Amino acid sequence: ACLPGVSHGPTPRRLTRQAKIVWRDKVVAIGGDAPVAVQSMTNTDTADAVATAIQVKQLALAGSELVRITVNTPEAAHEVPAIREQLDRMGVHVPLVGDFHYNGHKLLTQFPECAQALSKYRINPGNMGGGKKREDNFAQMIEVACRYEKPVRIGVNWGSLDQELMARMMDENGRRAQPWPAQAVMREALVVSAISNAQRAESLGLAGDAIVLSCKVSHVQDLITVYRELSRRCDYPVHLGLTEAGMGSKGIVASTAALAVLLQEGIGDTIRISLTPEPGGDRTREVVVAQEILQTMGMRAFTPMVVACPGCGRTSSTVFQELADSIQSYLRDQMPIWRTRYPGVESMNVAVMGCVVNGPGESRHADIGISLPGTGEIPSAPVFIDGKRVLTLKGDGIAQEFQTIVENYIER
Ligand code: SF4
Repeated sequence: ACLPGVSHGPTPRRLTRQAKIVWRDKVVAIGGDAPVAVQSMTNTDTADAVATAIQVKQLALAGSELVRITVNTPEAAHEVPAIREQLDRMGVHVPLVGDFHYNGHKLLTQFPECAQALSKYRINPGNMGGGKKREDNFAQMIEVACRYEKPVRIGVNWGSLDQELMARMMDENGRRAQPWPAQAVMREALVVSAISNAQRAESLGLAGDAIVLSCKVSHVQDLITVYRELSRRCDYPVHLGLTEAGMGSKGIVASTAALAVLLQEGIGDTIRISLTPEPGGDRTREVVVAQEILQTMGMRAFTPMVVACPGCGRTSSTVFQELADSIQSYLRDQMPIWRTRYPGVESMNVAVMGCVVNGPGESRHADIGISLPGTGEIPSAPVFIDGKRVLTLKGDGIAQEFQTIVENYIER
């Protein structure tokens, strides 16, 4: 019931340890009482230091609080310190996370400057070889993490699950009186792999608050089940993300559906939205989507939000859609400057509405709002500031005048 005093917010965050990801004076906390952190990943060749530094900067300016880069070859590992140096020169101190598969143990030991320049390592225990070799390679990476005091994400993945563990668990399942479905065994294997590798890392000397876990899968219901179970069984902070979420609206919808359920249950300490970009598409889209999920759920605020009606037969033109779009783009573009200049601006709400049916009401609820004239209405657009109608705009310059009013409001 919508009764006073009855909370309809998310379940309080699951209490976890807190990992700190550090570069110089920049500290990003994951877990504990820290806000859910947004992260992203580059898709440039890391051996191309200039292209990678440029993309990291774009992602950081869009609001990514950590940026992961793939470190897959000696050439890539060699360039990591140069990428870090270029970013520092540009004043971009976002912590870099190195993504290692197959040869991470070799790269981290052969390129100590790379190990030092990274702020965190992502390790996938499913692709480090088998048997004793796997154990040794894992130990080697943890040893480097301990030496340089770097936190580690133990990231297991549906597509590269530890095959020995999986085979053993399938055998055990076969001996059950009522065997589980294979899908359930795989989910269990993901959770067991993440937790047992975290425990092994601790036994090798890595601090318990230097570990983040993830168990990524590509189906929404599997992801929800796996993370609920992972969070029930341990108190390591968790990185949420649907792996291979897909392209366009499918990727956004699937990621939002999965993450919203978990975040609402208090599960999740950092998120990444893995969208497949359109060819030549903007990589920062995944940062914007991650921010919008957290902001629309009322968990964090990153940029002023524009409320716009969908439009209908009452709208006489496309002016209001264009205005809503241009105001949202303008506000987002200004955020790298405004974030420090106008603290609190990110919580602002702007309404751009298509006619008088819901226009004045919605505009009054926003910090600043405009109700454009619909079909058959007098061609004027009342503007509301802090719930009060303050003026009416008329003529062809409504969009530009409203943008100026928004700018003045923010500056004031
Ligand atoms: Fe249609 Fe007006 Fe509602 Fe917008 S506010 S959807 S134009 S009735």
